[in-house]
Amino acid sequence: MKTPMVKPKSQFIHKSENRYPESCNNKEVNEEPPGELGISGNADEEPPSKTVRDRYRCFGDIPNSIWNDWKWQFRNRITSIEKLAQFIPLSTGEQAQLRLVTMRYPLSITPYYLSLINPHDPDDPIRKQAIPSILEMTMGSMGVEDPLDEKRDSVVPGLVHRYPDRVLIVLTDICPVLCRHCTRKREWRNGGWVRTPAEVEAMLSYIRQHKAIRDVIISGGDPLTLSARRLEDIISRIREIRHVEIIRIGTRFPVVLPQRIDHELCAMLAKYGPIWLNTHFNHAREITPQAAEACDRLVRSGVPVNNQSVLLRGVNDSVEAQTELCHGLLRIKVRPYYLFQCDEVQGTEHLRTPLEVGMKIIEGMRGHTSGLAVPIFVIDLPQGGGKVPLQPNYVLAQTEDELVLRNYQGRIFHYRNPIKHAHEESPAEVLCPADSVTVSMPHGTGYKFDLGEAPNADRVVVRS
Ligand code: SF4
Repeated sequence: MKTPMVKPKSQFIHKSENRYPESCNNKEVNEEPPGELGISGNADEEPPSKTVRDRYRCFGDIPNSIWNDWKWQFRNRITSIEKLAQFIPLSTGEQAQLRLVTMRYPLSITPYYLSLINPHDPDDPIRKQAIPSILEMTMGSMGVEDPLDEKRDSVVPGLVHRYPDRVLIVLTDICPVLCRHCTRKREWRNGGWVRTPAEVEAMLSYIRQHKAIRDVIISGGDPLTLSARRLEDIISRIREIRHVEIIRIGTRFPVVLPQRIDHELCAMLAKYGPIWLNTHFNHAREITPQAAEACDRLVRSGVPVNNQSVLLRGVNDSVEAQTELCHGLLRIKVRPYYLFQCDEVQGTEHLRTPLEVGMKIIEGMRGHTSGLAVPIFVIDLPQGGGKVPLQPNYVLAQTEDELVLRNYQGRIFHYRNPIKHAHEESPAEVLCPADSVTVSMPHGTGYKFDLGEAPNADRVVVRS
């Protein structure tokens, strides 16, 4: 039996906290907050994203203490088109269309993430990631539900074992924001589940029995929707398994609800390192002061943070957008790790780009900025074929002795290979007659054996 994780709303809500304005659509986009720049911003510093101020457009009457309570944010997610229409201008026709979409692919946006959207820009890059589009349905025949064939490699419920030394644990299908490009969109219809204690025990038991597993990835849905206590119970038990060297957590909370990365969570994670955290920023506007603080807390707790973005049409499919994103990530101590080609998932066709776009982006970044800022462009192959890195071809010609290469400016260079070393050659076998020892030397090195008049193993001389 699945355990529902989210308690009914009525059990949580404080008297004053469920306050939404009747409508905020008619307010000025650039309206300044009353008397301060941001929740934690220093008035003298430009935040990485100025749009954090837009919180005040719609949620200006929510006190900081409530706004910064991640549980309040989580409970007050926008999950219906009616509620969404209070914040984003939507005609009656659009509302009817989107209602149809959400019957198949539900909607969920945190107030925080919604506040980053410019409601008056239909092409807003954050809007495209979070607000449904009728194209999810009209182009819905393209793609497949499970392009990575994860079900095939699911060895026990919730545990995917594809590569010998690592496994993926899926603890829940709940996410604070349902990203329109999600690879596991197929799971959304299942209504929100969290693995039961028995299911978790079955996964741990599998890991205990398979000693080749040295890397456990906890993902979802978003595993940080679980309480710190529940997470600690699972992480501590994984840490007890001696052959597990590292634990990785895949989460989008630093992006869509950074308030979740609180001191309690970080203190817990700090106890069970090495833990690596992979998150999912797709656009520079997501790098707000709150997101920066969340990543800083993680890094200071000994949890390195890597970013895995997805290449999305109209969101981040240009050299400029990716460079701005990656520079912003480095400023908040997050390493740009992967740039994923958007998988062939049903309901995401309108967001996908041709493969060449990704390669051109990498070409436009490599050499023009620090290598640390350039992610690896990767395609996750269909049918569980695994990840393949793709990059522009810099090798124009190649012989055994030389390569012809171009650099990032298109200039041509010749590069001489070193002469072959003995261990790289197929050996020429020489039988030393004195004691029948076989001596191996490479072909074509110009070396000769001089066995002398009375051959003896001790007297073998090699001359060039
Ligand atoms: S956070 Fe990840 S798993 Fe959740 S909806 Fe977004 S892409 Fe999918």
